[in-house]
Amino acid sequence: MKILKFGGSSVATPARIQSVIEIVKPYLKGDVAVVFSAFGGVTDVLIGISKLALESNLEYKTKLADIEKRHLDAVRELIGVQKQSSILAQVKFMINELEDVLHGVFLVKERTPRTLDYVMSFGERLSAYIISEAFKDKGVAAEFLDARKVVRTDGHFGYAKVDFDVTNKLINDHFKNHTDLQIITGFIGTSETGETTTLGRSGSDYTAAIFAGALHATDLEIWTDVDGMMTADPRMVKKAFTVPQMSYEEAMELSHFGAKVIFPATMQPAMVNHIPIWIKNTFNPTFEGTVIHANAKNGKLIKGISSMNNVSLLNVQGSGLLGVVGASMRLFATLAREKISVILISQASSEHSICFAIENQYTRQAKSAIDKEFQYEIRNEEIDEVQVETDLSIVAVVGDGMKHSPGTSGRMFSSLGKNGVNVMAIAQGSSERNISAVVRQADVAKALNALHEAFFLSDRKVLNVFLVGTGLIGNSLVNMIEEQYNKLAKENLLEVNVVAVANSKKMLFNEEGLKLSSCIDEMKKDGQSMNMKEFADKMVSLNLPNSIFVDCTSSEEVTAVYETILSANISIVTPNKKANSASMEQYTNLKKTAFKRGVKFLYETNVGAGLPVINTLNDLLLSGDKVISIEGVLSGTLNFIFSSYTDGKKFSDVVKEAKEKGYTEPDPRDDLSGMDVARKILILSRETGLSFELSDIQVENLVPVDCQKGSVDDFFKTLEKHDASFEKLRDEAFSKGEKLRYMAVLNEGKVSVKLGSVNSQHPFYSLSGSDNIILLTTERYHERPMVIRGPGAGAAVTAAGVFADVIRIGHYAK
Ligand code: ADP
Ligand code: ASP
Ligand code: MG
Repeated sequence: MKILKFGGSSVATPARIQSVIEIVKPYLKGDVAVVFSAFGGVTDVLIGISKLALESNLEYKTKLADIEKRHLDAVRELIGVQKQSSILAQVKFMINELEDVLHGVFLVKERTPRTLDYVMSFGERLSAYIISEAFKDKGVAAEFLDARKVVRTDGHFGYAKVDFDVTNKLINDHFKNHTDLQIITGFIGTSETGETTTLGRSGSDYTAAIFAGALHATDLEIWTDVDGMMTADPRMVKKAFTVPQMSYEEAMELSHFGAKVIFPATMQPAMVNHIPIWIKNTFNPTFEGTVIHANAKNGKLIKGISSMNNVSLLNVQGSGLLGVVGASMRLFATLAREKISVILISQASSEHSICFAIENQYTRQAKSAIDKEFQYEIRNEEIDEVQVETDLSIVAVVGDGMKHSPGTSGRMFSSLGKNGVNVMAIAQGSSERNISAVVRQADVAKALNALHEAFFLSDRKVLNVFLVGTGLIGNSLVNMIEEQYNKLAKENLLEVNVVAVANSKKMLFNEEGLKLSSCIDEMKKDGQSMNMKEFADKMVSLNLPNSIFVDCTSSEEVTAVYETILSANISIVTPNKKANSASMEQYTNLKKTAFKRGVKFLYETNVGAGLPVINTLNDLLLSGDKVISIEGVLSGTLNFIFSSYTDGKKFSDVVKEAKEKGYTEPDPRDDLSGMDVARKILILSRETGLSFELSDIQVENLVPVDCQKGSVDDFFKTLEKHDASFEKLRDEAFSKGEKLRYMAVLNEGKVSVKLGSVNSQHPFYSLSGSDNIILLTTERYHERPMVIRGPGAGAAVTAAGVFADVIRIGHYAK
């Protein structure tokens, strides 16, 4: 004998019911019975209608008419015309019965749990009846079985307990006399006094298990709308996948902690009778799905991650609890009296506080009952008033394999921590099959995805990038990510998902990841209007794991939100120097916030574009080296200008050429002023631990005073007047066999930025084009300095440096 159960999602429409019939047909060769839920969503609607009636809202009638129509339409679609009328009449008859009850609720303004169970029972009764007729219409000898005839329960309405002795007997007697295919209502039963009861929401799974147990079925198959029991709820975790097999205990823990795919109690009758439970997909019937059985292999450390929303945490604390035997007994007895079920308990060994989680809806009731129970202790200040936090969730990792295997909780909490998910309480059962953590409900999706990554995707990581600035650098970055995407995903197990792009006018988001080849154009065309604060708010509210904000602008409006971003546990990568070269206070605050939040703030490209300057410097310092001096040619633009300023050329022409080649800022005075170089050496000095402000640096401004005002054209005209004085400087240098270089120097705690000349022995002498060079003289590298040299400007090398920082964060996240 096999028992099959089809859930509401499998019978939501007549077309779905047709495919269910096709799925069942091959089973008819053997012994089989089928349990059905109400049509998808009907139970919720019935509850809603009864609530309207209770509130004296006549709209309940319209809603009831909708329900009637839905069932009558199903009959018309599923059953041949000649047989329809008696079935339609029977459906109408049931609906009239329902209408009478609702009318009663409307009149007496009372809806007891007993009435509600009765109202809800119509969902399964209508659905199984209509489906049994549809089977008959297809020529299958089928019979409708109202489970109230055989499932005997106590009178705990809404969550009735099954009397197995009576039920098993009734089921067996029934099956002895009924050989046609039994089409059974899920979810419902009858109390000893003959009243309709229900087994708890989603209880049709349980009905199926009750029949399977009673009839000693060989298999129990739960047919639903997903490919079996998955590593996490696929609606919350896109990368969840099917777990081929698991133990009854694992399935029970997972479902108890929110894996709705199977009702927790279902496991009990199956487990005692050694019946394997298969979870199969009506929408993908040939797929194996999951089998839950006693000898499930223990390959994986954990089998799944689940979550439960709408939870509150209550904390009882005070010296009155210390070592007092019986305090916790009184606490939990109080809750039991109020019929409030406790989901999780955690008590620190100091015995100073006990905290526990319950469903949100019972918070007030629980608090006032406990405050009352402990009123004397509270009055004597031996115990504080109960503290309450609401709108929380519990996330649980579950698996038999974690028993006696150290490191599971380490991995769990470090992954939550790295993603800034605050854990408010923790519990691990002594079965070591489940570790649960209470987190804020707003963090639940992030927590599930982060845990899923940590436990199931081995070292696979998804980085969620939010890019602001789509000029030359931002644009090349997107191209690079696109080119490298597959290789990174395959070889480095890093998926770089660009979730948002924005320029100063528009922004575009897609949580699933934007299409890299077209996202910038799309943003410019269809994006919503850009506002940095809104961008940051949206990024924070998406709350994605491993989020990275990439700032490829040079704007202070953007750096103004860095603090907020880091505080929201989002890493930052940027070539924008504005944040680190603003006040020392801001520089240290950003670093502190990043450290405190466990996220990264990386800006290798602040100096020397993609050259490894800042990382190298930090590596030296971290390994105990001390910096004696830093000398550098840090401006690609100025180096281009001075290395092409050879004999016979005019200074103003060389600057023009640099501008034409795109080496300068739109206004070349921004380069010639030396401020850009000053910012770079300021950042390097700060990295060595010195506390400097930009104003502490002496900067030689190469823009002659009379050229400092006016347009760029005016500037070039006036600059010509100064060609002679620049020529004089150059010739003086040449006459000594030296060359002009614009240099930044940090030495003995002083920083200067100026034009000077170097002889042929000096490493700066041969520097050409737009290259940068940095000499690090340290205690270890004091005879000859460490030299870092190479192209130090340009969109491609800068973007590559930014990309490298993003990937560095990916490796850190692992
Ligand atoms: P049915 O109507 O068939 O009873 P349910 O809606 O009760 O279906 O249960 C199936 C749903 O359970 C899936 O659509 C899925 O969103 C949810 N679910 C939650 N956790 C899991 C999990 N770990 N594996 C599979 N499905 C899950
Ligand atoms: N129809 C009931 C519910 O929605 C039982 C079930 O579907 O399992 O809760
Ligand atoms: Mg269900």
